[in-house]
Amino acid sequence: MNEELELLLKDIIHPETGQNIVDSGFVDRADRGEDGSIAITLRFQKARDPFAQKIKRQVEELMQSKYSDNACMVIIREAAPKPRRREQQTTTTDICRIVAIASGKGGVGKSTVTANLAVALRHRGYNVGILDADIYGPSQAKMFGVEEYVPEAERDEAGNEFIIPAQSLGIKIMSIGFFIRPTDALMWRGGMAVNALHQLIHQTRWGKLDYLLLDLPPGTGDIHLSIINELKISGAVIVSTPQQVAVADVVRGVEMFRHPQVNIPLLGIVENMAWFTPEELPDNRYYIFGRGGAKRYAESAGITLLGQVPIIQSIMEGSEDGRPASGYDPRVDEYYADIADKIVENLGDEC
Ligand code: ADP
Repeated sequence: MNEELELLLKDIIHPETGQNIVDSGFVDRADRGEDGSIAITLRFQKARDPFAQKIKRQVEELMQSKYSDNACMVIIREAAPKPRRREQQTTTTDICRIVAIASGKGGVGKSTVTANLAVALRHRGYNVGILDADIYGPSQAKMFGVEEYVPEAERDEAGNEFIIPAQSLGIKIMSIGFFIRPTDALMWRGGMAVNALHQLIHQTRWGKLDYLLLDLPPGTGDIHLSIINELKISGAVIVSTPQQVAVADVVRGVEMFRHPQVNIPLLGIVENMAWFTPEELPDNRYYIFGRGGAKRYAESAGITLLGQVPIIQSIMEGSEDGRPASGYDPRVDEYYADIADKIVENLGDEC
């Protein structure tokens, strides 16, 4: 196999295995002739497998973009994938429960909920980690005041490499944001992001964790599917604002977790920015973004309403200052303690 081609092909991820097509054994041959022409053979169990056609197209496009002057032929051969080259090493074996935090759209408070929930769980004595996988707007480092952190790598005697996570308020934090500038995110091809996340998941020195919270990108896409494939996720939490709650994006998110091939239990919905209470009128609630939608949707879809968190100034300020408000504002902690308790109750103590 031509090394240069092999390296390029590693950018393409098989959506089902979540791994690049080379390591997953889908590339039979990738060679260059003396005239520079390219011949690639992919092997799939069924040539009509929809992934096979998609991947063939991706390979052709990739080759076209890199070697537009050279002829390129990509063919599909029907055969079982080759056995993987090596067993995957992973640092996730001592993580007891993984909870994915998802949202239909950006800006609804998914990252804020993740950060405050992590702090609430930590206060209950659990060992907690966060993986910020939101490549479009990684914000956990800022929320925990560790945006200057530069992850170091360590090597054990066997030559395995580990990445050391940041720590803040007793929580281990690893973020895709440590490795990319936000402005770069949109230019990342799906495969690159998935490769990088794969490394962060399996090489971060997580140690023993009771809970790993995954801050997923908004919406549903290849990144979600690949993370779902890489990890055994115990449950998912959906965050939404009142007016967004039953719209298509949220419904698609719910359907993704419920899809028979995904089958991740939905722990519930958190309705964020549910109302606003001004300090001078403590008995008043203003339902700025609508009222009651989350409860109605949760009931109709058979999902638990985990909690409703109002708009509170300290929540926003805490995120700006690098210390989530549930750690110091009892009004905020009250809401998050309740959500954390419901999740703990649902997932139980068994690992
Ligand atoms: P997402 O992760 O969904 O893109 P963020 O968590 O970054 O959204 O939140 C978007 C903005 O809203 C942030 O400035 C955050 O501080 C603010 N915010 C989120 N939830 C609340 C809340 N309950 N009260 C006040 N501000 C909030």
